[in-house]
Amino acid sequence: NTELTKEWLQNYVDDWISFYRKHITDGEVASYIPILQEANPNHLGITIIGKNGMTIRSGDVGIPFTIQSISKVISFIAACIERGVAYMLDRVDVEPTGEAFNSIMHLEMKQLKKPFNPFINAGAITVSSTLIGNTSDEKLESIFVLLEKMLGYRPAVNVDVYESERDSSMRNRAIGYYLLETGFLESDLNITLETYFKQCSIEITTDDLARIGMILSNDGEDPETQEEIIPRQIARIAKALMLTCGMYDASGKFATYVGIPAKSGVSGGILALSPPRVRDEELPFTEGCGIGVYGPALDDKGNSIAGIRLLRHIATQWDLSVF
Ligand code: GLU
Repeated sequence: NTELTKEWLQNYVDDWISFYRKHITDGEVASYIPILQEANPNHLGITIIGKNGMTIRSGDVGIPFTIQSISKVISFIAACIERGVAYMLDRVDVEPTGEAFNSIMHLEMKQLKKPFNPFINAGAITVSSTLIGNTSDEKLESIFVLLEKMLGYRPAVNVDVYESERDSSMRNRAIGYYLLETGFLESDLNITLETYFKQCSIEITTDDLARIGMILSNDGEDPETQEEIIPRQIARIAKALMLTCGMYDASGKFATYVGIPAKSGVSGGILALSPPRVRDEELPFTEGCGIGVYGPALDDKGNSIAGIRLLRHIATQWDLSVF
């Protein structure tokens, strides 16, 4: 009985949210982009959407926040669709760095062949430069088309967040100049950075993240309409990157203790998913699900503290690990 199961799961998730909301009160909201400081550090919300459509929503859901680094998954997928996988993998590698997302160490110290992966800023800015278009809005079009297909509506850029990042992000400009000097950028630096800052400022909710996760879990196909939104090969690469590089320089720990593909952003969002799995016991969401989390209080790596604790708990209880 699906209704009963849903009610039962809903109660569990509500209890877990109350617990983590009450007991995990450390962490700080991001401040290096000034406007992000306005987030409420006590917020915690989760949406889980199963392949069969079953939806569990709990806590602070429905609060819009900017997608930030999670946009790197979407821009990489959009660029792969536009340019082809081989073209993109010639320009960004698929290796974790073990360094912070905005690190410039590797750029300087190693003989840079190409940015390590599309989820560090150097890689993501390179990806934004490959999107087709002469202006940032033209370049963003493929990202919006992809998001609209997945979400059923067209999200928008939060202009205040965009301007706040544009006017403060010296580090990303430095990375941009370095990429320009080394010949990685495929379009004008200012247009590329504008594209990157705008894509990071797209406003979404936990429901949206869960929906994206569910489609990735289903290898890029919308289970309801059977439409292929993301080609399977690209969905698989995106998930492999999420597992190995998605949680900044805590990706190894996240893979060890939670064990599912995920991508976080500095506004406190986490996009996660559980692929379909075969189990003897009765466990929820064995057909696969997408998970969206929002909890803006971050740890020193830039990941949502309560969000990670909650995901770890759910993954353990429901045996979600892909390993
Ligand atoms: N817009 C942010 C930056 O580039 C995104 C960082 C993130 O979410 O990790 O600094």
